[in-house]
Amino acid sequence: MHAIRLSRQLSSWLLFVLTLLALPAGAGERVVDAAAVDKAALSLTPYVSLLEDPERSFTLADVQAPALAARFQGDQPPGNALALGFTRSAFWLRLVLHNPGDTPLRRMLVVENPRISHVEAHIPDAHGVYHATATGCDVAPSSKAYANRNFVFPLLLPAHSEQVIYLRVASSVGLLVPLQLWPVEAFHAYERDDYVSKVWYFGIATAMVLFNLMLFVALRDRVYLLYVAFVSCTAFTLAIKNGLAPDWAIAGLPLNSNVAYYSGVSLALSAMLLFTRRMLRTDQLMPRVDRLLLAMVALYLVTPLLYAIALPLFSRLAVYFNLATAVVVLGVALAGVIKRQRSAWFFLAAFALLMFGGAMTTLRAMGLMPTNMFTVDGIQLGSAMEMIVLAFALADRFNVMRRDKARVQEALLQAQEKLVETLQGSERELELRVAQRTDELQALNSKLETLSLTDALTGIANRRHFDEVLQQEWHRAQRTAEPLALAILDVDWFKRYNDHYGHPAGDACLQRIAQVLASTVSRSSDLVARYGGEEFVFLVPMTDAAGAQGIAQRLVQAIEELALPHELSTFGRVTVSIGVAAMVPGQGEAAETLLQRADAALYEAKKAGRNRVGRFI
Ligand code: GH3
Ligand code: MG
Ligand code: MG
Repeated sequence: MHAIRLSRQLSSWLLFVLTLLALPAGAGERVVDAAAVDKAALSLTPYVSLLEDPERSFTLADVQAPALAARFQGDQPPGNALALGFTRSAFWLRLVLHNPGDTPLRRMLVVENPRISHVEAHIPDAHGVYHATATGCDVAPSSKAYANRNFVFPLLLPAHSEQVIYLRVASSVGLLVPLQLWPVEAFHAYERDDYVSKVWYFGIATAMVLFNLMLFVALRDRVYLLYVAFVSCTAFTLAIKNGLAPDWAIAGLPLNSNVAYYSGVSLALSAMLLFTRRMLRTDQLMPRVDRLLLAMVALYLVTPLLYAIALPLFSRLAVYFNLATAVVVLGVALAGVIKRQRSAWFFLAAFALLMFGGAMTTLRAMGLMPTNMFTVDGIQLGSAMEMIVLAFALADRFNVMRRDKARVQEALLQAQEKLVETLQGSERELELRVAQRTDELQALNSKLETLSLTDALTGIANRRHFDEVLQQEWHRAQRTAEPLALAILDVDWFKRYNDHYGHPAGDACLQRIAQVLASTVSRSSDLVARYGGEEFVFLVPMTDAAGAQGIAQRLVQAIEELALPHELSTFGRVTVSIGVAAMVPGQGEAAETLLQRADAALYEAKKAGRNRVGRFI
């Protein structure tokens, strides 16, 4: 079936191709000149002949047998990869490698897609004996022929040889087969660059995870934990996607398998949804959308089970569901922007970057963008920028919360100050009122005091006041050894006056007598008082008996001169009798002595005929 004449050695590539075009079998099948692949990689897509195996039942012997061998199809559509779509079929790829040189050639056959479930290589040795290597992401780890994140098969092409290599690929998800032939040196250089281009992303992710974990420990805000979950899941999923997860298996399921990859996407998206919920506070601002987001998270959390049961079916549905999730998150971010949420702007920017990265990768795959580090790893670049922008969103959120807190504190402080002011105000008012009351009380007190010391009828001092002053003056006279004079005045025939003119007239008469008394005995040191009934007293300090007698004399005269009629008196008018006494108080003597003496003098005056002054001798 490969009617390539081995004897023919062509020195030029052009001649070689022309020869191939004349080949009868394997229409369109092109032979790879491995010797020409000595500097850079060669995409093998145009050289592949393809055979679909819908039942996944063919063996190498089957496809080598003429019946099936004739059904291999060449002329693959141009491009970097064979895009075989979501299919349950296995595919057999046939390649013819030619080494026209005199020395054996070492080359690397690279299947640059770590997501293919099964990759089986059948490579002949120098004797034409085929050796099989069965690997693939769903196959037990360590099955690889060469340790690389992709599926790499080292080739040894003997001198002047033509080798037919078979690759069998099958996948439970979409089947994309980028096939390349590499010179060994160039491949090693590419390998290094390739790892570097992947590893920086995980450096950023690790830093973000550790930093935000620290923030969570310090600030105790669950949003940081959700961010950590989101970044961890995303990074881990990308690691699986790139075939970079550790070569481990859990319960027979390799970590790099497609079930693990799709489950990782689910977990990353649920963490994303939970983070979005919390950041954009959908539970408060959009309760309905919030319930939708929670339902999506719940659904995502059961998908690993679905993937484990039937990945081919659910991986197709996942494409739509993941797309719907992106639309929902974008919608929520837009709604957040409309509701004037600052965080929502960050979300929009983050998603725009992720979409942009995704778009670049897609455009490259469609051949509309050149292949470079930005387009090849567009999603990874977009994801890195997304996690950085979202970290900024967290920082901004922290800032806003701090500002809000400061504002609340400020308001609280103002309220407190106002309260203190109010309290101080009412305290001042209270003090004022107390002072007012105190003044009023003092005024009342002094009024009461005046009242308690004043005789209600005549307005002169009462007996109590007189008793107090007598004691004071008595003691003072005792100290200074000065004489103190006292006089008692009694109205003559006053009972008769009352009887005749009536009691009110008697009161009026007493008032007149008091007036005369007050105006006659008017030195500031003197005191006049109503002693009781129709009896009055006056006290004149530093005055001897003669002095006091003089005053009493003038008083008797003044009252007589008032000429108040008193028909029943022997004088026909109101008169008074006064008893005068004066003494320098001796030690141990009481003031009552002076009173008694004045009283005795009064008695004498009455006895002597009234309207006169009696003096104690
Ligand atoms: P004498 O000349 O001996 O003093 O005769 P008298 O009637 O004045 O006798 P005495 O001094 O004992 O009389 C007191 C009288 O004074 C009795 C009472 O009717 C009268 N009197 C006492 N206090 C008052 C008072 O406040 N108002 C009036 N209108 N009369 C009083
Ligand atoms: Mg009397
Ligand atoms: Mg009398």
